[in-house]
Formats: sequence, C-alpha cells, structure tokens
Amino acid sequence: MTPLEKIDILDEMINEMINKKDEELEIEKAENIRLCHDQWYITNLWNKQHKEIKELNNWINDLQAGMYVNCVYCGHRFKSNPEVFPTIQEVLHEHMENCSKHPLFKANQELKRLNSIIKILIGDALEQGIDLSVPNGKDHLTTPY
Ligand SMILES: [Zn+2]
Repeated sequence: MTPLEKIDILDEMINEMINKKDEELEIEKAENIRLCHDQWYITNLWNKQHKEIKELNNWINDLQAGMYVNCVYCGHRFKSNPEVFPTIQEVLHEHMENCSKHPLFKANQELKRLNSIIKILIGDALEQGIDLSVPNGKDHLTTPY
C-alpha cells in the first residue's frame, strides 16, 4: 500500500467518523427540541389547570360565603353596576351571551354558524336562478309535525 493510498483510507475513516458524529448531534438536537416542546406543553398545561383550580376555589369560597351570585356553568361572580345594568337580570343576560361554558352561548354560536351557511346557500341559489319564493303564502321549509 502506497502512502497516498493510506492517506485516502485514513481520510475516508475520518469522514465516516465526522458523519457519525453529525448524526449523533442531529439526534441529540432533535431530542432536545422535543424535550423543550414537552416541557413547554407541560408548563402550559400546568399553568392552565392551576388557573382553573384557583377559579374553582374562588367559586367554592363564594358559594360558602353565600353572599354572591355566580354563573352555574363557569363560577363567574356577578358584580352589579347600576349605572350600566340596572337589574341583575341584565347582568345575567350579558354574561350568558359571553360565557363559553353556558349552553345559551353555545346555542348562539351554532345559530350564527347555521345562519352564515343559510346565507351562503341562498346566495348560491339566487346566483343559479333558483326560485326561493314561498308557495301559497306558506313556509315550505316547515313540516306539519
Ligand atoms: Zn359563565
């Protein structure tokens, strides 16, 4: 084996070692990224649940104090501002429309979604020249049942 051949073999061995080290570093880097993501996820989850526990404890304290009116779905404590809402019913109604845990809020969201679909369908029908007039003055979309 000539010295040049030996140098080529050594060069090849060094390149293999470098490639292997690069792969190990890439794996380590990917594992570190995944670990950071997991830690971030767990921290966020922990913070979210810690916040929810704190809110639930506040709600329990309100219920035990017996001095406050709370939303039965989220525990929000109602504060009446007579200048803005003269009655508790108005305060309750305002909250119901914005409480993401309240069934009325969910129903309103679904209603808005369905209304937007209906508007799109009516627009499409009108574009296609489909007659949407109600026959004999009766609503043909309702059933007798
Ligand atoms: Zn609520």
